[in-house]
Amino acid sequence: MISKILIANRGEIALRVLRACKELGIATVAVHSTANSDAMHVRLADESVCIGPPPSRDSYLNIHQIVAACEITGADAVHPGYGFLSENAKFADILEAHGITFIGPTAEHIRLMGDKITAKKTAVELGIPVVPGSPGEVLPENALEIAREIGFPVLIKATAGGGGRGMKVAKTEAELEEAVSTARSEALAAFGNDAVYMEKYLGKPRHIEIQVVGDGEGNAIHLGERDCSLQRRHQKVWEEANSPALDVEQRMKIGQICADAMKKMKYRGAGTVEFLYENGEFYFIEMNTRLQVEHPITEAITNIDLVHEQIRVASGNGLSVTQEEIQFQGHAIECRINAEDPRTFVPSPGTITHFHAPGGLGVRVDSGAYAGYKIPPYYDSLIGKLIVHGRTRAECMMRLRRVLDEFVVDGIKTTLPLFQELVDNPDILSGNYDIHWLENHLAGDKSH
Ligand code: ADP
Repeated sequence: MISKILIANRGEIALRVLRACKELGIATVAVHSTANSDAMHVRLADESVCIGPPPSRDSYLNIHQIVAACEITGADAVHPGYGFLSENAKFADILEAHGITFIGPTAEHIRLMGDKITAKKTAVELGIPVVPGSPGEVLPENALEIAREIGFPVLIKATAGGGGRGMKVAKTEAELEEAVSTARSEALAAFGNDAVYMEKYLGKPRHIEIQVVGDGEGNAIHLGERDCSLQRRHQKVWEEANSPALDVEQRMKIGQICADAMKKMKYRGAGTVEFLYENGEFYFIEMNTRLQVEHPITEAITNIDLVHEQIRVASGNGLSVTQEEIQFQGHAIECRINAEDPRTFVPSPGTITHFHAPGGLGVRVDSGAYAGYKIPPYYDSLIGKLIVHGRTRAECMMRLRRVLDEFVVDGIKTTLPLFQELVDNPDILSGNYDIHWLENHLAGDKSH
């Protein structure tokens, strides 16, 4: 049994995890850098420990300090949230060596999925459809041969990839050499590893991902999909569940493929299998072995608390539901509220002078922000997530429009005005968009 959880994260996700712990009667330990001592989750936690100076590598990524904080407070488990150490296999290993439960999958599964080439090989073995691509690493000397086999355009991607970095498109043979060398140097700079691989570049896909949870003993379920096609620089901006592009049959089919794969792997914890979807076909791109930012829309339509499930399976208590018991109800949309200029996306740190979160039926705001809170400049700019739920997509849109009008964040710039614009856009209203839609829309606006 887990009795005290140290939350190795900050911001809205730390608060999100804390809420689940409180509901389950589990004691909480917050950790924070010196730049974050006034954060909401620090105030609400039973105990808190300062783990270092503002830069993440000295605090939220400092494994020694986090393990020491567990030992000082007697925490018997760690929830890593997303980002930071959530997909760090070494961290999972070290916690295990100290007899502390890592609330997540085994270090072996984190490693397997953390390397995109082994992840794709594993996906093939597990019966998951993948994007056609190179069987392994691509080198300058074999790139042309592989690209001809796949067919242009091709995409060069970093094996250690994340956040869309180290990715380059080559539309023709003439562009290939440069694409491979730029991708390799970007990958080296971002991940300290210059290995790259190649995929068929899909022209107008949607990004559709499947939420899975496994108990580590061979039992696993899926909780349907999320459509995260609205992206800027490969970063998700707006997500919805269900996808406007899928019908029930397609949903249950791809969901079952993923759940069966997780059963075969004996996967433990929450995970997301990410696909590109084009012309009715799914193509696996990667698996995230952690909770995702956009998990609340799945919670809204299934009424299942994913953090509760993560804690249950980490404690060895199994899943609380069976696949048959899961019912998908209505539609949910999440807007990521960033402290950024809504046009240029330049970060806008500073002090929030007024803060009013909207409420009412079908509205959830996950945010640690409050009036007087000073957003530190050191971390990502996500200050909150707005999640609305309705019986239909149309009702959800109607509610979102009302809620966006009600949301007040003063003193800094936020992406709220962008969502006010999107909610009235005919393509968004009809659900007719792909992964390039948002960037095209933003570029179009600038030229006016
Ligand atoms: P990362 O781990 O860097 O986020 P992903 O493999 O998850 O990389 O891809 C991120 C985004 O890049 C996708 O959501 C999609 O927009 C785009 N992308 C990835 N692979 C392809 C591909 N083969 N064809 C077209 N776009 C792609």
